[in-house]
Amino acid sequence: MEKNFTRRAWFKSTLALTAGLGMTSSLAAKLISAPVSEAERFHWGLKKPGPGFPGPSSSKVRLNANENPYGPSEKARQAVIQILSDGNRYPIQATAELKEILAKKEGVSPSYIHIGAGSGDLLCQSGVAFGIEGGRINSGFPTFPALMNYAEVFKASWEKVNLNEALEIDYDALASSIKADTRLVFICNPNNPSGTLVDHEKVESFCEEVSKKVTVYADEAYLEFLEPSRQISLVELVKKDLNVVVSRTFSKIYGLAGLRIGYIIARPDLIKRIAKYAGDIPLSQPAIAAARASLGDDAFMKLVRSKNTEARTVLTGYLDQHKIAYGKSVTNFAFWPAPKEGKLILSKMEEKGYLMRIWDYQQREWCRVSIGTLEEMKGFVKAFDEVTA
Ligand code: PMP
Repeated sequence: MEKNFTRRAWFKSTLALTAGLGMTSSLAAKLISAPVSEAERFHWGLKKPGPGFPGPSSSKVRLNANENPYGPSEKARQAVIQILSDGNRYPIQATAELKEILAKKEGVSPSYIHIGAGSGDLLCQSGVAFGIEGGRINSGFPTFPALMNYAEVFKASWEKVNLNEALEIDYDALASSIKADTRLVFICNPNNPSGTLVDHEKVESFCEEVSKKVTVYADEAYLEFLEPSRQISLVELVKKDLNVVVSRTFSKIYGLAGLRIGYIIARPDLIKRIAKYAGDIPLSQPAIAAARASLGDDAFMKLVRSKNTEARTVLTGYLDQHKIAYGKSVTNFAFWPAPKEGKLILSKMEEKGYLMRIWDYQQREWCRVSIGTLEEMKGFVKAFDEVTA
C-alpha cells in the first residue's frame, strides 16, 4: 500500500481527514499543541472555540512551551540580520550547505540527514510514515505525543507504557510491550514532560536489542541541557546502520523555537521513508542562517545551561520545601502532581500572569512548568504558593 500511496493521495487524504476532524486550522498545529488534560481542554475552550495552545501574550510569563528565555544568541541574531539581503533568493543552496555542516558535525554522510521546520515537523512526517499502515506505536507515557498523535490519525494505535516510580521511562517494560504489529518505538531521553534522564548505557542496549525487531525513534530535543561530558547521543547507533532515528532541534538550547528548524539522523532508507511525507516547501533563509550561526556556540550554550540550572533550583527548592515529589529534571522544565484542581491552577495562574501546562496521568493531574529566568521563577513560586495555599 505504501508504494502506491502517492503524494497526491496523501495530500487529498490529509485534507479529507482534516475536514473529517472538524479542524479549523492546520492539522500540524493542532496535533503538535494538542491539549494533554481535561483541565486544558476546559481552560482553553473557555477562551477560544475548539482546542488551542495559549498563544503569544506579551503580558504573560510563558512557562508552557519549554522555550528558551535567553535565545536567540547574539551570533544567531546577527546572522539573521545579515541574511536579510538574501531574502529574495530561494534557500536551496543554503539548505544543502546546512545538510553538509550537520552531516560533518554528526559524523555521517549528508544522505543520513533530513532537515525540517522544527523537529515537530519531522515527528509528524514520521507519524505518517510509520502510522499509515495501521499497527502500533509504543512509547513511554507520558511523553511528547506529536508522533503518536499523527500516527493515530492514520488508525495506528498508541501503546502507552507508564513511567516508573521515579518518573523515568521504564525501558524494560517498554521492551516487553512490543507486539507483532508494533511498527515503531518512540523514546525521549531526557523525557518531556517528566524531565528525567535514563543512563545512556541502558538506553543504548535497549536500542540495540529493540531495533533488531522494529524502528526506534529517539528524540534528543533536550540533550544539550546536560553538561557536555554527559551529552551522549544515540547517533553512534545510526553510524552502525542500526534501525534507529535520532532527532534534534534548534528550538531548545539554541533558543530558535520561532524560527522553526530541526533535523533527524538516520540510515538513508529510513530518511527516504520519512521524507516522502515532507511538504516540498523549503526552509527559510533566516532559520538556516540562525542554525548555522548557533552551531558550536559553546559560550551561549554554557550561559543558557547555567542560568537554567540556577532558575530551576528556585522551583525545585520550593517543591522540596513543600515536600512535593517531582521528576529529577535535567531539562528546562519540571513535572509534579498538582496540589489543587488543574483547571483552577491554570486559570488562577494565568490571572497572575503565568502560563503553564496540566497533564492527566494515572487518574491524577500533574503540573508541567518550564524554567524561565531567575526573576520569573521567583515570581512563579510566589504566585503558585498563593494559588495552591
Ligand atoms: N520533541 C520534544 C521532546 C519536545 O518537547 C518538543 C517541543 N516542546 C519537540 C520535539 C518539538 O520541538 P520543535 O518542533 O520546536 O523542534
